[in-house]
Amino acid sequence: MAERTLVQETASSQATVGRLPITHRGSFIKQFEGAHRSPSIVCFRFWELAVAAGCPYKCSYCFLQATPSYVFGRYPLQGALFENWKDMLQEVESWLAHPVPRLLLIGELQDGLAFDGAYKRFAGRSLTEMLVPLFRRQKQHRLVFLTKSTCMQHLRRMEPTDNVVLSWSVNAETAGRRWERGAPLPSRRLDAAKEMKGLGWPVRLRLDPMIPFDSWRDEYGTVVDSVNEIGPEMLTIGALRASPTLQAHARRNGRDSSVFDLLDKKDPSGFKYRLPFGTQVEMFKFVVDRLDQRRIVAALCKEDKSVWDAVNLEFNGCHCLLGTRDEVVRERWSGRSPHRHESPRNRKGGNGNGG
Ligand code: SF4
Repeated sequence: MAERTLVQETASSQATVGRLPITHRGSFIKQFEGAHRSPSIVCFRFWELAVAAGCPYKCSYCFLQATPSYVFGRYPLQGALFENWKDMLQEVESWLAHPVPRLLLIGELQDGLAFDGAYKRFAGRSLTEMLVPLFRRQKQHRLVFLTKSTCMQHLRRMEPTDNVVLSWSVNAETAGRRWERGAPLPSRRLDAAKEMKGLGWPVRLRLDPMIPFDSWRDEYGTVVDSVNEIGPEMLTIGALRASPTLQAHARRNGRDSSVFDLLDKKDPSGFKYRLPFGTQVEMFKFVVDRLDQRRIVAALCKEDKSVWDAVNLEFNGCHCLLGTRDEVVRERWSGRSPHRHESPRNRKGGNGNGG
């Protein structure tokens, strides 16, 4: 792995990527597997694109820490670019040739925009300069950049397109300061979302993971008020969750692992350790009740269907899908998927989210 000095991500305040490694990747697009492995997790097999490895931010709860590629050193946790980025673009072009509408997510396997400037220095084009034109020139598919970054200098120079959605992962300010070290504060992410919505870009927001710290009602209430003011097309909510080894990996990486002491037992599908069920439902109801659902679609992220039931929320699309016209949704609703499960409220079929 050759090392080159590439990036100073000054626009994202605290985060500085100095020496960023370059590595190779075999394939770049895959489908989310969680729904496959845990049938009562209400989440579709959405499409995800890996544009870089790792992430310059240091969230305590980041699942990458427990992912084998990072545990065993194949990729550096703090981030690497892909030398064969041209292969990535070819793979995206092939994916775009598919005749049925689908959505491609960047941001599940690394931050979606944190590497934008790094690619500009390395490849002469930022990620957004590479990918936005590919989606702009077709009419079927959509791309989502999911991010905590506020690096938007390249996007600001582009014409918005309805085929590319900008999505910020936000949280309460206290949670951001304590458990999302290195990332711009949530208030700055909300400012970024407001600005880009004002410039004409489609915007989604994801409030995830909610964490029940002492003043969570006051702070999450403030976040939801900001969300209502911004008016994204969708807000997805999720709560703190972890695989069995994540706390140990966070400790090993020097991150504040005390947050995992809040977790209780695994969800009914055995997917992840969760907050106590009552706490989780109370937090989700708090947000859903305060959200302006006349304008903003609410959805849960990677939740067990028992939670959808308890929150009394219906599936009307979710973060990592186009909505009901998405091919992945149509497959499950038609019963062709071997892992079909029904929506808790809307018995037409499955629901869920990821990203
Ligand atoms: S921003 Fe996302 S990918 Fe980056 S450390 Fe935080 S959780 Fe992990």
